[in-house]
Amino acid sequence: MNLTRISEIKPLMERHGFRFSKSLGQNFLINDDIPRRIVENAGIDQNTSVLEIGPGIGCLTCRLAEKAAKVTAVEIDRRLLPVLEETLSAHDNIEIINADILKIDVSELCAARGITAVCANLPYYITTPVIMRLLESNTSIKTFTVMVQREVARRFTSEPGTKEYGAITLAVNYYSRPEILFDVSPGNFIPAPKVFSSVVKFTVRSSPMLSCDKKILFRIIKAGFSKRRKTLANALFDELKEDKDDIVKKIEEAGFPADIRAEKLSLEDFGRLTEVFCFL
Ligand code: SAM
Repeated sequence: MNLTRISEIKPLMERHGFRFSKSLGQNFLINDDIPRRIVENAGIDQNTSVLEIGPGIGCLTCRLAEKAAKVTAVEIDRRLLPVLEETLSAHDNIEIINADILKIDVSELCAARGITAVCANLPYYITTPVIMRLLESNTSIKTFTVMVQREVARRFTSEPGTKEYGAITLAVNYYSRPEILFDVSPGNFIPAPKVFSSVVKFTVRSSPMLSCDKKILFRIIKAGFSKRRKTLANALFDELKEDKDDIVKKIEEAGFPADIRAEKLSLEDFGRLTEVFCFL
């Protein structure tokens, strides 16, 4: 069965009385090249235990099962369970878990199954929370190869000083090295979304990129980007309620001009600021 061919998807959906749910971000792939390329780029082999988020009717799940030792697929929509039972019946290395990926204990799930890779065509309404949750959880995951909205992908990989650059760029780069692999146009899905998508591979850093205090680092990043139009000194003053002159002094001590804005600073720069703001 070709799970990306419309002529097979439609009768399958009719047999199961299934209709797409917009609120669950259900845009299914109709071009087999995409799941193949995701699996190829993810570096899956017969020793890999992989987690898939949102298998839908199983087009990526099948491709993963052909290469991996085991696939654990977490799907929130109960209506897809009988569909998946039919479409994945030829494979004996797939486990479907009916759950919300944002509500399960990912660390426990990954530890119990030796999961080292994540692959997904992510539902766009929860892209950032899912990625942050997986990156922040203490798991054995080494790579995430996931499809997201193109503009979100650009935010993950943007450089300081660009309009896409923000707190989320710094957060994902703290934990991993994100890389855009390829773009996917709306015509590759049913129903077609309004936006382009990109496949991004995140290679998780084996040790944190910075040795500074993580809590203070993210407090400064959050404060700095909460008021984008303000200077970093003013944004930090609003957020931290510390003496303004002290804040300016510390910014200069870290080697930056008093009127610097957060969007100009790299992750390493925020690391330097964290060292001088360690009183927080
Ligand atoms: N993997 C399939 C494909 O590429 O054609 C379907 C991808 S579709 C964009 C997203 C899938 O994620 C849907 O099957 C949807 O039901 C599921 N999903 C949505 N929210 C979820 C959640 N919170 N936890 C787990 N799965 C979810």
